[in-house]
Amino acid sequence: MAKHIFVIGGVLSSLGKGIAASSIGLLLKKMGYKVVMQKFDPYLNVDPGTMSPFQHGEVFVTDDGAETDLDLGHYERFIGNPLNKNSNSTSGQIYETVLKKERRGDYLGKTVQVIPHITDEIKRVITAIGKENDIVITEIGGTVGDIESLPFLEAVRQFRMDVGMENSLFIFLTYVPYIKAAGELKTKPTQHATTKLREIGIQPDLLLCRSEMPLNDEIESKISLFTNVPKSRVINAYDASTIYEVPKILMEAKIHERICEHLHLRQRKIDFSDWDRIIDGIKNSTEEVEIAVCGKYVEHQDAYKSVWAALIHSAAANKLKLIIKWVDSEKISSKNDIEKNLSGVDGILVPGGFGNRGIDGKIAIAGFARENKIPFFGICLGMQIAVVEFIQNVCGLTEAYSSEFIEDCEHPVIHLMDDQKYLEKMGGTMRLGAQPCVLKNDSLVNKIYKKTEISERHRHRYEFNNKYRDIIEKKGMRIVGTSPDNLLVEVVEIPDHPFFIAVQYHPEFKSRPDNPHPIFFEFVKAAGKKGKK
Ligand code: GLN
Repeated sequence: MAKHIFVIGGVLSSLGKGIAASSIGLLLKKMGYKVVMQKFDPYLNVDPGTMSPFQHGEVFVTDDGAETDLDLGHYERFIGNPLNKNSNSTSGQIYETVLKKERRGDYLGKTVQVIPHITDEIKRVITAIGKENDIVITEIGGTVGDIESLPFLEAVRQFRMDVGMENSLFIFLTYVPYIKAAGELKTKPTQHATTKLREIGIQPDLLLCRSEMPLNDEIESKISLFTNVPKSRVINAYDASTIYEVPKILMEAKIHERICEHLHLRQRKIDFSDWDRIIDGIKNSTEEVEIAVCGKYVEHQDAYKSVWAALIHSAAANKLKLIIKWVDSEKISSKNDIEKNLSGVDGILVPGGFGNRGIDGKIAIAGFARENKIPFFGICLGMQIAVVEFIQNVCGLTEAYSSEFIEDCEHPVIHLMDDQKYLEKMGGTMRLGAQPCVLKNDSLVNKIYKKTEISERHRHRYEFNNKYRDIIEKKGMRIVGTSPDNLLVEVVEIPDHPFFIAVQYHPEFKSRPDNPHPIFFEFVKAAGKKGKK
């Protein structure tokens, strides 16, 4: 039977529960355990894919095409294993399952209630993911005291009764603020939050205390006294300069030893040298590389979490210090704007997106990168606008556009395929998840991947319009990656340019700190070289 760790949050949100859970996952994995992670999101949306990135950050896509919470991106990046749809459940999904059963008559006329029906369904989900794994780490979204997360907390309280103390561990993440006026770190919020958790029947087994600066012995003793948690299990997660350092901080505080003790797991040695190299690359590289990331969500950088992470991994591996310049494409409307925002940058990346806000700015930016031979990387929508720009300005079809932005444009070079138009009426038209792609032998991407058959994750509706293949190829933009049946264009590049690659898929989802995505790696490398000139 799998051992279960539950990560619960107190005091306030944004303390980094996802990073804490992922860091613990990494340490346990490094001890040789088979770890799987999951997140419970207390909101009622059944489909997190429809939530706005402005509000909720990036939608992370798994191989099996699930559109999930961005914390799954952290999990995958830290534990290094691909996850699937089973790793993310919302209250909406839990309720939907229960209500469907009720409609089918499965409850035989009984009163359907939060306890036991909703909590039983939550417990079923928790148990199901444990099959074939040694350890399940479950992060419960929200903060103790929220009405929404109550059914999840009640379910895990019961779960402990079902499986026993040595098979379940409650980790409570709290905050110890530093009050400047008093010149002191304050433990009261942690005390209160723990009391709140106890009120619903959960005594934490281990406290993870976030703080701006390291806690001293006295503070830790005080927290222990008031929370009933042994002092050795009051672990301080003080602020790190990069999230990739958090596992090391927790390891030095011996969290893995405490976890193994509690769960009756054998302690094994952890080799941290690979992650030490990553941290060193992030913290100690001095040569700068400046990458402009141009999109419409730049004020909400969580919307580009995986792109950002992939750039960090690649810069660290290239021993370059990453400077990201977030450029709001909606604010680019003239040559002057472009010059002002982009001159001097070493590389330009246009990530994915939906809708037509800021589109003309993005098209102009792709043109600027092409003409000025600045390393360019277009992802999904970024690929579509790069193609539009090329057809408009190099092939001379000035009316070319994507039918996402102008439905009846004269040259819909990016459009919906016929079968999708039919599906559109029925909803569910998105191409999602891992799909194979074949690369041309003599292409730059082939050199980068070192293979011709790849699989990458997708999340889009519109496709390159095959009518325009010859036109762009004649003028110097090559189609170098397609679906195996050659029907869908996946990768384009411009050979007469130091680095111009645009892909229809989302490579960022598969970048790992210890294994950066090859295109990101080469893009940052090419940008680094440019900066040297
Ligand atoms: N909006 C575009 C499409 O649906 C691109 C999507 C994306 O960038 N993820 O095809």
